Amino acid sequence: MDFNDDHFNGEKDILKNSNWLNRYQITSAMPHLEFPKLGTPTNMAVISALTQMENSQWWSADEIKEVQFTQLYQLIRHAIKTVPYYKELNVPKNAEDLQRIWHDIPILERGNIVGKSDDLVSLHPPRSHGKINTQYTSGSTGQPIGVKNTQLSRIFWRAFTTRDHIWHERDPNWKLGHIRVAKKGTAEYPGTVGQGWGALKGKNALIETGPIAGLNINTRVEDQAEWLVRNDPDFLITYPSVIQKLAEYCSKNKIQPSNLKQVETISEVLTDKVRKLVYRAFGVKIVDLYSTRELGYLGLQCPENNHYHVQSEGVYLEVVDDEGKPCPIGVPGKIVVTPLHNFVMPLVRYAVGDYGVMGESCSCGRGLPVLKSILGRERNRLRQPDGQYRWIAISAKEYGELLEIAPIREYQIIQVSFEKLELNVAVYGELSEQQFQKLSIWAKKALSFEGEVVVNCYADLERAANGKLELFKSLVE
Ligand SMILES: [Zn+2]
Repeated sequence: MDFNDDHFNGEKDILKNSNWLNRYQITSAMPHLEFPKLGTPTNMAVISALTQMENSQWWSADEIKEVQFTQLYQLIRHAIKTVPYYKELNVPKNAEDLQRIWHDIPILERGNIVGKSDDLVSLHPPRSHGKINTQYTSGSTGQPIGVKNTQLSRIFWRAFTTRDHIWHERDPNWKLGHIRVAKKGTAEYPGTVGQGWGALKGKNALIETGPIAGLNINTRVEDQAEWLVRNDPDFLITYPSVIQKLAEYCSKNKIQPSNLKQVETISEVLTDKVRKLVYRAFGVKIVDLYSTRELGYLGLQCPENNHYHVQSEGVYLEVVDDEGKPCPIGVPGKIVVTPLHNFVMPLVRYAVGDYGVMGESCSCGRGLPVLKSILGRERNRLRQPDGQYRWIAISAKEYGELLEIAPIREYQIIQVSFEKLELNVAVYGELSEQQFQKLSIWAKKALSFEGEVVVNCYADLERAANGKLELFKSLVE
């Protein structure tokens, strides 16, 4: 790697890099030690990773890719040697050689893991990487998948969580509100309160954080609004579809929490429409997050723009076409990731099930690649009679037109056949015959669809078992 003065883009960046430890207090785990504080061994490892990441975010895209491939070379050699699934792969001579042959490595689809995940587990995972865990997730196929990882995954998870706080300048004393998916009977209205944002408490927490208020996602919107005003958090984490409903309800009923400074959304596709709506309702910005339990943090929203920066210190992320070749900037493709530090169950070029678009390098100066948008689940595409797919991409202007037709709270598009779509909407009140007609015309235009569009109006739209609202569903195989 060629180190030169370009790493330091002036004094501003040095300041940006060096300030975070002033803001965040490390939790002391050592008796009698007040200054400098030392945390648990795990937390010290997190701090060490984070300190290096504070610098690496400013490296150039090429430099970042180069160090990623030195890490990927370690991973691939280990995988070929110890993981049955990869034993047929050609052994690369070095990191440069690996970069040359990278696109020949086949994409690992979710379906490859279901039922044969044992083949993907290393026969000799490095003991120094710590205790092995299994993370279970339900894929888009509805079949649960178990992904094994080690303590390293947790170390990097915490480092990226903290980077997100640093990037978005969260005061650790803020009160966090969390409307979340929880089992029946857990965090039910009127909600729970506690101390510390994360699951780890006391000396196990990385940094000292403020109070937390939690609420079950299945709470009625009027009760959510009451909870919001009563707890008055500074910072709220929830799903895009939840904050959308809540913002609409609060706007309509002139409810305004006084402390709210930031909203963070997770798990679902966040649209510009919801960003605008939340800004109008609460006067705050939304920060979106792209992560999965089994793969870690994939993208964090840029502090200065609404797109995402790939978290390249943890994952090598590609946007590829059906042949596994990289899509040019601006062209949508399949999101494929390789977690850099999972040596117990190496996932090489694993298709997450989402689609995305890479963007130009960012105006903020970070070299971490830009993921311009995430197009959501695999099924968010229209199936064409010729076997091809077509992307659903509704512009901000078209959302504006939609709202002018009727006060839409939620919508969902279902492709019933090649010739027929259903537009399901939830609105306040009822729709007139004319509004039904206008919605149908709107859908044809916004989706460039020539067949029939049937509009259905419901009080509430049905959610999937995990609480997510699927914006688009195709029933066509
Ligand atoms: Zn940026």
